[in-house]
Amino acid sequence: MTHTPSAPPANSLIGPVALKPGLDWSALDHVDTWVFDLDNTLYAAGSRLFDQVHRRMTAFIMTAFDLDRDAALTLQRDYFRAHGSTLRGLMVHHGLNPHDYLDYVHDIDVSVLEPAPVVGAAIDRLPGRKLVFTAGSTAHADRILTRMGLADRFDGIFDIVAADFVPKPAPAVYDLFCKVHGVDGARAVLFEDSARNLEPAAALGMRTVWINTGEPFSQLGSKGSHIDWVSPDLAVWLEAYMAHLDTVGRAG
Ligand SMILES: [Mg+2]
Repeated sequence: MTHTPSAPPANSLIGPVALKPGLDWSALDHVDTWVFDLDNTLYAAGSRLFDQVHRRMTAFIMTAFDLDRDAALTLQRDYFRAHGSTLRGLMVHHGLNPHDYLDYVHDIDVSVLEPAPVVGAAIDRLPGRKLVFTAGSTAHADRILTRMGLADRFDGIFDIVAADFVPKPAPAVYDLFCKVHGVDGARAVLFEDSARNLEPAAALGMRTVWINTGEPFSQLGSKGSHIDWVSPDLAVWLEAYMAHLDTVGRAG
């Protein structure tokens, strides 16, 4: 039995996955490049893995500037708000060596993540190239993807070094990403837990999937027409899309 709602009402739910009015799964038929944010997207926010990174950032600032925890957290937050990332603020205001910082903040325990064979099989079934677009380092991405059993599933990683340390959502970074990897925005989709990071992607014609983790940071910039799908978790979205591919008899 096939059932495809032709005109879903606003924020209609297809299972737990919400869809923009007027859109259906066929909006992905032309997509040949699948782009994934890493932190809190490829791995679930519930793992609290990023909390470890966040704590390492605070510790780095405490040591570097001889600050107590509250003062370090304030600086961390202020730089994040003003520059899109704490790292960028540290580079702009203090000439920080970004590599030292990245090595320090990514020295975390990835064993809290579980292997994700179902997600891996679904990613394999997506037709086309798969790329990681992350504000972390390639080494950080490799450790996480290896732990989850996803390391061989991606055709490339565009990390913060490749972005010349300019974080999303600066539009220039999306242009650079597309140029470096030969991505046609009109044939790509971006998965992101940070809603505001989807806006420049949509402006380039990308389809967008917002992974709404429920965290305040995730929800910044979530108002507007730049979000096509909303899902609480990447695995949930992939499960729904795989069910659609099964329905239409597409091997992927
Ligand atoms: Mg993220």
